[in-house]
Amino acid sequence: MSSTLKAVRGTRDLLPPETALWNRIEATARAVFARYNFGEIRTPIFEDTGLFARGVGEETDIVSKEMYTWEDGERFDKDLLISKWNLANHERFGAAIGEFVHKTASTPDVMQYEGNDGNWELVVFGARPSAELLNILGSAVSADRALISKSGSAKQVTGRLVVPSPTPGALIETTNDGILIEPFFGNFNRSSQSLTLRPENTAGVVRAYIEHKLGETGQLQKLYYIGSQFRRERPQKGRYRQFSQIGAEVIGPPSAGSESPLRDAEVLEMLATLLDELGITGWTLEINSVGSSADRARYNEILRAALAPVASQMCGDCQRRAVTNPLRVLDCKVPEDQPIIDALPKIVDSLDEESKKHFAAVLAALDAAGVPYTRNHRLVRGLDYYTRTTFEFTHGGLGAQNALLGGGRYDGLSEAIGGPKAPGIGFAMGEDRLVLTLLAIESAQPEKMDAYIAPLGDAKDEAALTRINAAALALARELRRSGLSVELGDGSFRLKKSFETADKVARRIVILGEDELQSGILTVKDFASGTQTKVPRTELASFLSKTSC
Ligand code: ATP
Ligand code: MG
Repeated sequence: MSSTLKAVRGTRDLLPPETALWNRIEATARAVFARYNFGEIRTPIFEDTGLFARGVGEETDIVSKEMYTWEDGERFDKDLLISKWNLANHERFGAAIGEFVHKTASTPDVMQYEGNDGNWELVVFGARPSAELLNILGSAVSADRALISKSGSAKQVTGRLVVPSPTPGALIETTNDGILIEPFFGNFNRSSQSLTLRPENTAGVVRAYIEHKLGETGQLQKLYYIGSQFRRERPQKGRYRQFSQIGAEVIGPPSAGSESPLRDAEVLEMLATLLDELGITGWTLEINSVGSSADRARYNEILRAALAPVASQMCGDCQRRAVTNPLRVLDCKVPEDQPIIDALPKIVDSLDEESKKHFAAVLAALDAAGVPYTRNHRLVRGLDYYTRTTFEFTHGGLGAQNALLGGGRYDGLSEAIGGPKAPGIGFAMGEDRLVLTLLAIESAQPEKMDAYIAPLGDAKDEAALTRINAAALALARELRRSGLSVELGDGSFRLKKSFETADKVARRIVILGEDELQSGILTVKDFASGTQTKVPRTELASFLSKTSC
């Protein structure tokens, strides 16, 4: 018995009515982004692995253990095989080595060598001894032999297919047609490209910004994306291996104002508005500044010194981080370590004047706009090019996975992946977690249709049934085209079944039997009020457009 195939661990199907909630979230996000002058960017779902190694950081959890990475097809390097074989055989052929003297349209890959003895050897190089290559070679050999015998020459023509061999000393075989198959020792595979399913979208956006020279417009780029991301994590509620993020980036040359604290505050204010419009109540904005890269380096040393005497009392991870990357100790979730971490020096005390001013300006703008926030001294990003403002929006309803979204400034990111100076700020919001939060507030109810059309046929009279079903489709088309949402029943259903089905999916039922077809007067029943109304077909659409009867 074959086993049943299921969605892969950590991935899931999204079904109606929940998908309606996803659509509403996305539509709201798009509408809000548009009001703030953001345009949509769609980047590929996979990228060169190097982008994430550099753009997210090799020592992050994401890159070090969560990425889906593969080698994209090892490619057979034919040129390398040809040149190595030529070198090994040059004594036999002298000057003619490696020349395509027999390249024609029909035999494009056949190379003709003339030996020191004057005989010809037709050689084809391939990844493996395929029938196709043997055929090509076979016909080239026959053609040359015919040519030679016509000219009366005594030259011999042989055919040889050279293929790579992983082991030395493999023997040459001869096919029935007298063609030699020579396994030639060596590795002739060109190393392929390492590709990765995107674990996040900021690196892709910044790559696109650089690739399309968006900085040269001199304008601030305000870009948003909605799409799947992939991380090999331990699946649990709110944490999946394929999940969706809604994110945005504001990036541009410094002359476009990309470093301004106003940009940080505007992004945060936009997020507060978006969450409010989505109907997510009770969120908390946590905010911090990690300063410039010099500030962070200074703070890292202060932390290292402060951790030296206490690290031995901490968890294994912290003991390691205390030496390698002290900043990441602040991410520790082990309960026993918390009092020690809370007593460590705070990064805010290591900020230089510029960074302090920047952060104060962000907070002042948030105060002016009336966006509430909480300072969280421990909110840091583990990467060097994350600078200044860092933030998270959390929600109590999410339990352990309480972060709805995270973001911050990344003034050094573009340069880290080989681009021009392009300071920026952005965020990524977990759409799955938005849905979970909203489902806890309201359950996903399918939207009721405006009407259910119930054709009434006679199951025994096939011609009549066909006629009434066809008429029902025509009526449904008319109503749907006038903008109404309509579900269509089937003439073979008994009246009771039609009513039961209709009551589940629609607000009203429209009965269409032979009588109604003849008279052009239809019966409409409204389920909420229980009223039954006779409506002329010509007035049906406008009647149904009214919210209630
Ligand atoms: P967490 O601490 O929850 O692992 P993170 O720091 O890895 O989050 P980011 O890389 O900042 O997350 O991604 C931004 C947002 O994307 C998170 O706040 C969260 O809402 C969402 N997110 C991240 N990983 C997942 C996942 N595996 N499944 C669902 N949502 C996720
Ligand atoms: Mg994570």
